[in-house]
Amino acid sequence: MSESDSISNGRDKGASTDAVHGGAARDKGFHAMTTPIVQTATYTFDNTAKLIEFLDKKVYGGELEREEYARYGNPSVWSLERRIAELERADDAVVYPSGMSAVTSLFLTVLRPGSHIVMTDDCYRRTRQFCETTLKKFGIETSIVPMGDCAALEAAIRRGKTRFIFTETPTNPYLRVADLKRVAELGRANRAMTLLDTTFATPVNLRPLEYGIDFVMHSATKYFGGHNDVLGGVIAGEAGRIKALKDARGIFGNVIDPHQAFLLERGLKTLALRVRHQNASASKVARYLEGHAKIDRVYYPGLESHPDHQIAKAQMSGFGGVVSFEVAGDIKTTSDFIDRLRLPYIAPSLGGTESLIEQPAYFSYYDLSSEERRDIGIKDNLVRFALGIEDPEDIIADLDASLEQAPARQSVSRV
Ligand SMILES: *Cc1c(COP(=O)(O)O)cnc(C)c1O
Repeated sequence: MSESDSISNGRDKGASTDAVHGGAARDKGFHAMTTPIVQTATYTFDNTAKLIEFLDKKVYGGELEREEYARYGNPSVWSLERRIAELERADDAVVYPSGMSAVTSLFLTVLRPGSHIVMTDDCYRRTRQFCETTLKKFGIETSIVPMGDCAALEAAIRRGKTRFIFTETPTNPYLRVADLKRVAELGRANRAMTLLDTTFATPVNLRPLEYGIDFVMHSATKYFGGHNDVLGGVIAGEAGRIKALKDARGIFGNVIDPHQAFLLERGLKTLALRVRHQNASASKVARYLEGHAKIDRVYYPGLESHPDHQIAKAQMSGFGGVVSFEVAGDIKTTSDFIDRLRLPYIAPSLGGTESLIEQPAYFSYYDLSSEERRDIGIKDNLVRFALGIEDPEDIIADLDASLEQAPARQSVSRV
């Protein structure tokens, strides 16, 4: 972005201004208000001299303002990447067609046989599966340590071998929050890179690079897109490292479609508006549930009762839009409670305009027995509620009506 394009005039912008304008070129071409969807598979050269000029820059270094073929880059995607980099206060960002594509590409690009990863439990299940199956085939080992246990994390590090420390904040489904400064220090002290999946927080609530974390990743499918209608993934960090990822993407071929990029850029403009509303709604819902006799326990980092409340308060400017809780009762009491709700849809995912609700015992862990689930800490009566942008009063009225019909606590068998 050129100096004349900048809207900062020396002031650190607020998240809403940033979401609308940050990283966006003032001149988007064709006098268009929005970034055009450049729907092309290849790019043309006026003549051979122009081609040679381009190739010289590519081979000998220089600012490339164009590409030769769409697997290497697309202007609609560049615009999205600049915007996300600005929101994260990162040098640069690289966008992928899904969150899983982002994390798997990063690992495949940076790791080599003999590398070791330390990862916290309570992580996105497919990420963990990728490490424990695919990476294992290539001689890369993963140690899983309990979330929130920094001593265990430190003990699991193998000096000279551990290349990545990977954690999430807040986690799914218990919304645990890592001490980022501590994780970053452990990484630096042991020459391991640190990666934080902060899909649940968004840069509106948390900017991990400011704590010294090396890479931040998001499933852009969730809050960035924000409308439950598009997949996407992103990694942001230092320029040279992001460039390596972009070069690898040109070989892997996992490029995002320009229309998908357009939808994500459009979603980003309302990111701060939505997230702040969702923060406020989730706080109200969490407090309402915590005071309800038919709820056993509520997990929300904004509540004083949450084990990571203090660190969340110090690190985050909002606690996010997801609330997890346990209904007093068994698996059936819980699913009956969910089935009576009228507003949220029963669906996985989070961060969109519509509220979504799920019972992890069914959604992510149906293949495990009740006992196996309990061993990994997923109770049958656990519910994850991802708030949309509906009015919190209506959401609470809906919850209240369903809980009203739930069996009284005395008559239910405790799990
Ligand atoms: C959804 C999600 C992912 C995976 O992202 P996709 O866009 O679905 O591929 C990774 N991490 C977290 C925390 C997620 O919620």
